[in-house]
Amino acid sequence: MKKIRTIGIVTPGGDAPGMNTAIRAVVRTAIFHGIRVMAVERGYAGLIGGDIHHMDLKSVSGILNRGGTMLRTHRCPEFKKASFRKIAARQIKDHGIDALIIIGGNGSLAGGYEMAHEHGVTSMVVPASIDNDIPYTDFTIGFDTAVNTALDAIDKIRDTAASHERIFVIEVMGRDNGFIALEVGLGAGAEVILVPEVKLSMDSVVKKLKIGIDRGKLSSIIVVAEGVCRGHDLGDYISKKLKVDVRVTILGHIQRGGSPSAQSRSLACRLGSAAVEMLLKGERNKLVGLVNGDVVTTDIAKALKPTKTIDRSLLELAEKLSI
Ligand code: ADP
Repeated sequence: MKKIRTIGIVTPGGDAPGMNTAIRAVVRTAIFHGIRVMAVERGYAGLIGGDIHHMDLKSVSGILNRGGTMLRTHRCPEFKKASFRKIAARQIKDHGIDALIIIGGNGSLAGGYEMAHEHGVTSMVVPASIDNDIPYTDFTIGFDTAVNTALDAIDKIRDTAASHERIFVIEVMGRDNGFIALEVGLGAGAEVILVPEVKLSMDSVVKKLKIGIDRGKLSSIIVVAEGVCRGHDLGDYISKKLKVDVRVTILGHIQRGGSPSAQSRSLACRLGSAAVEMLLKGERNKLVGLVNGDVVTTDIAKALKPTKTIDRSLLELAEKLSI
């Protein structure tokens, strides 16, 4: 097995709070073990373009609490083509990189898989995404922060919803899954939570709201995942059917930004450091996750399969509590 002397770090996907904490953990753990670290800027685009430079202990000073990614990121559809991955593999070789630490989500993971499969590039993946949709880890880095940011916003919206006796529809992120919507809806005490995993017609939403109104409920919060429908379409429908004023807020990119929460920081420190430690122990092409409190590794190929889904019992709990 080839000895690891130099690692490269790359953040190819959507940014998530805690990515910087993970970068710091990787760099500091690697240098602790005498390993050289190279930064790949702007995700897979920087890998193709050779935007790669040396990092030292100071390169990661003062970044732990900052949102986003100091390495920057860039959507790179070219990386889905074998011809561009071939160029990236050449860059990795030319820069003397023995292994890549990829910090990102499902797309980043897929890129790592292709590089291992086609060019024998060793990589370890640290799951970071606000969406929490990566299997073999209970949580992804950034998810907890995004949920807390959304909760903070909804608490504020509830103040005005209650004062004006209004229905508010809040659209949250999450791509095509409902992890954020479910956690946010439960924590915010939303009257209705809409997630892509459980089909709920707009009419049944209206029916539920009507029951609440008839019982004297003066304001309601509906949390809808972006993967279900546009918040404005739902708001218009409810408004038309109930003949009431409905306000719609799309939380959007504020969910991505901000200083990472304690949970996101702790996760990033543990998984970032473990990725390097596991590499040194001889593990190759693994996703490093946290399952039931323990750091575990899973083959990247296995982690590519979309096996993770929301806990439906939480949806039932939220429904019970929001009567
Ligand atoms: P995330 O890692 O947060 O899921 P993306 O889905 O945007 O973010 O993926 C990040 C990058 O990974 C993309 O810009 C692209 O360069 C690369 N990528 C995505 N899907 C694939 C794939 N199937 N094969 C190879 N590379 C991919």
